[in-house]
Amino acid sequence: MIFFNAYVAEFKKIIFTVDDFTQFQIYRFEVKNGDKSIGINSYSISENTIELILSENINIKKECYVYYESKSIKAIYSRLYKTSEFNDRYYHDITLGAIYNKNFTVFRVWSPAATSIYLLLYDNSEPVPNENPKKYKMKENNGVWSALVKGNIKNSFYTYQVKVYNNLNEAVDPYTRAVGINGLRGAIIDFEETNPKNFDKDISPQIKEYTDAILYELSIRDISSHPDSGVFNKGKFLALTEDNTKSSKNLSTALAHIKDLGVTHVQIMPSFDFSYKSIDEKSATKYNWGYDPQNYNVPEGYYSTDPYNPAVRIIEFKRMIQHLHRNGICVNMDVVFNHCAGENDNNFEKIFPGYYFRLHEDGSLVKGSGCENDTASEHSMMRKFIIDSVIYWAHEYHIDGFRFDLMGLHDITTMNIIRQKLDKLDRTIMVYGEGWNLNSTLPEGLKAAQINAHRIPHIGHFNDVIRDAIRGSIFAIQDKGFVSGKDGMEDSIKKCVTGSIKYSDRIKGMFSTPDQSINYVCAHDNHTLWDKLELSTNYETIDDLKNMQKLANAIVLTCQGIPFLHSGVEFCRTKGHIENSFKSPDTVNRMDWDRKAQFLDVYTYYKGIITLRKEHSAFRMNDPEHIKNSLEFFSYVPQKVVAFMLKDYANGDIWKDILVVYNANKYNVTINIPYGTWHLVTDKFTSGVETIKIITSDTLEVSSISMSVLYRM
Ligand code: CA
Repeated sequence: MIFFNAYVAEFKKIIFTVDDFTQFQIYRFEVKNGDKSIGINSYSISENTIELILSENINIKKECYVYYESKSIKAIYSRLYKTSEFNDRYYHDITLGAIYNKNFTVFRVWSPAATSIYLLLYDNSEPVPNENPKKYKMKENNGVWSALVKGNIKNSFYTYQVKVYNNLNEAVDPYTRAVGINGLRGAIIDFEETNPKNFDKDISPQIKEYTDAILYELSIRDISSHPDSGVFNKGKFLALTEDNTKSSKNLSTALAHIKDLGVTHVQIMPSFDFSYKSIDEKSATKYNWGYDPQNYNVPEGYYSTDPYNPAVRIIEFKRMIQHLHRNGICVNMDVVFNHCAGENDNNFEKIFPGYYFRLHEDGSLVKGSGCENDTASEHSMMRKFIIDSVIYWAHEYHIDGFRFDLMGLHDITTMNIIRQKLDKLDRTIMVYGEGWNLNSTLPEGLKAAQINAHRIPHIGHFNDVIRDAIRGSIFAIQDKGFVSGKDGMEDSIKKCVTGSIKYSDRIKGMFSTPDQSINYVCAHDNHTLWDKLELSTNYETIDDLKNMQKLANAIVLTCQGIPFLHSGVEFCRTKGHIENSFKSPDTVNRMDWDRKAQFLDVYTYYKGIITLRKEHSAFRMNDPEHIKNSLEFFSYVPQKVVAFMLKDYANGDIWKDILVVYNANKYNVTINIPYGTWHLVTDKFTSGVETIKIITSDTLEVSSISMSVLYRM
């Protein structure tokens, strides 16, 4: 007999499949829990699946095997962990980690599977030969292990020595809030000493509605690493505390550049502590984006000026946030809870093997993320970990929004709880992510993916429809989009103009409200917009490429929803056609400030459209009904043209009617417009809110590959 896929479904129930269910005798099955045999009370068979009801509870501190004569299979616990039976016994809504004060420190770690846990206190921040840590035996209460250490142990380092399934593992506390060099040990610090002056008075620049946000995605390293950035702390958090930095061409860089551009939010690529294998904090010769989290609740050491001192990365990260806030810019974090660094050497796995990750029925790890291990957000203590971490960053660091990497791998319940908990804080905190529907063991109906957007209200999704409609598919290099001359994209563009809500029978929606639509054409993944345009258009003239580059985000910034810009897109950022630059050198990834000088006209154009959006609430409607009533498309326009009007002081705008026309043709077009006194404020070369000329006519000529915006009082 051959066994397949055995799992413990309840404390007293094991289910497995066999190849041949006709030839066995039930009394020959044996269930062993560690060394102990467990009696079988009854059984049932359906097809080739056998269910055994046991005479007593299985002890999850020991592994469980089913035997049939010489054959055996391990029964995995993954399904048991989803049951209320398990949660009733082991779920605890309790503060975990090291809780420090000057007189004593309490440590708590969760592992119902462990048979013993010792707290190890070290003087060194990383392993060195012949160490002799202080050892404290921890006590268990239904899976929560705790120890109290008297005295002031500030500046100590710690790990847990966990005995689990006969292995002795040394693990870093997943809840640790500070670490030593390369994140190899937790650190005990006094958080009161990590706050910059007046951090308690730090106030986020408030947006009223999520649709008021203009997101700008940057990497801490790339924004300042160029030799000509004029920044002193190149590649560090502190780079964004430097004011008025300039390149040798006398153009603003880094923070000064972001401020001048006028975006409301920066979205920073991974800045939690990522794997030392990607970036050695001692000497970062390699480049890596850091989508491999190691310590979720700690800032990355490489971005600090002293990664050896655990407090420095925390202080500097806070200083950066405080400084951005003072400059009117909110800070969103890119969080990567869907997988983490390492398989067996992962701290979660060392503490409670098999709990934190999704497993296939054969016990192998689910890898829908394309990385080592998909986390099991549907397991209550993994869910708690994600929620606790998000709330912690919002509370301790004043983070203004969270961008969830591969959000579609998480479950709906987790995301809704996060939204609700953040809503209880007294400011507007954004939640959005990549709602891709990836392969997973999580049932489709439970995924926090775009397909279920209506069930996770006010959580945004990167809108791949607008991305591909404007620039062409990310999966086919040659594929063009609306701006590069692809036919038949008008309806897709219209869908995006409405914020992808259900606008009409013809323009079907994806989202319940416009704040669920994160409108973008490019991000850190895939080709930059410029590279995509070059590759898909077979090298048009530079002028046409620039016109496409301008029109692409002119559309994004005049659509309903939340616009998102990839840093550098405003000056035609290139990565030399490298599609996935996650470990390409700085020369590929960094923001090239010389290029800003080269494409200053594009930059100025982007800046003007941002001003237009910020000053005119008609572009930032929040209510889908309002969009349906106030936004009207023009029916009779040439192909490759989309024209619409935002009517009657839409969303309280000071302009009565706003007329927007996108022309993707390589020639000028003339369209009919309602007769009136129209103020042209944006055309092919000039953007913004100032009147370029007054048009009193019932026709309008719109230049090739460009946007026109007009208003009447
Ligand atoms: Ca690190």
